[in-house]
Amino acid sequence: MVPGDDRELILIVEDEPNIASFAQMYLEASGYRVITAERGEDGLQLAQTENPQLVVLDLMLPGLDGYEVTRRLRQDGNLPIIMLTARDDAIDRVVGLELGADDYITKPFNPRELVARVRAVLRRSDAAPAAAPLPQDTTLVLDGLRVEVGGREVYVHDEGVALTPKEFDLLVTLLENRGLVMTRQQLLERVWGFTFLGDSRTIDVHVRQLRRKLGEQCPIQTVWGTGYKVPAASR
Ligand code: CA
Repeated sequence: MVPGDDRELILIVEDEPNIASFAQMYLEASGYRVITAERGEDGLQLAQTENPQLVVLDLMLPGLDGYEVTRRLRQDGNLPIIMLTARDDAIDRVVGLELGADDYITKPFNPRELVARVRAVLRRSDAAPAAAPLPQDTTLVLDGLRVEVGGREVYVHDEGVALTPKEFDLLVTLLENRGLVMTRQQLLERVWGFTFLGDSRTIDVHVRQLRRKLGEQCPIQTVWGTGYKVPAASR
């Protein structure tokens, strides 16, 4: 980093040079510094040596693909990741979010949307952890479900369940607001921290994952046409 240069650094990992330079141009014009890699291995290397604040990561890469890069980055920490996926490939998005990507954008993308997503993800990673105003030593128990807020641990019948950071924040947010219906938009704002950019299907994807992981102990109810809630009284 040049001394005194406080622009945030974005790493783009994308093997298609046209897309990479297009994204780079717009991000630089928006005040970010940008470095690029064409291969997953090189991206991981740069993530370590250059210490970027965010990664824009293509899913389909030669060598290590975007899934594997995400998995390895998540082993090392919480570097924000925006995944680039093929249009309408819902499976890619689910797997990407499941692995811990913070957001995704589908190709072909509008560069202004990319810049807006980058801003939103950086803003909420600055503010993190945003969604846990409960005291850190709180333990929430509902039937066979136990949530240790401070330790960010979840147990079903005393067995630990691995949740992604966003799944955990979503669950805690709904638990904090027991008895209230929360709209997808409210949940996006509370958990993801963006106001108008969120794709409300992101919420549905995460609720599905929570239901799959927590099974019958998942307390989240769908309120048709509105959103989700955890009922005030335990079932
Ligand atoms: Ca590609």
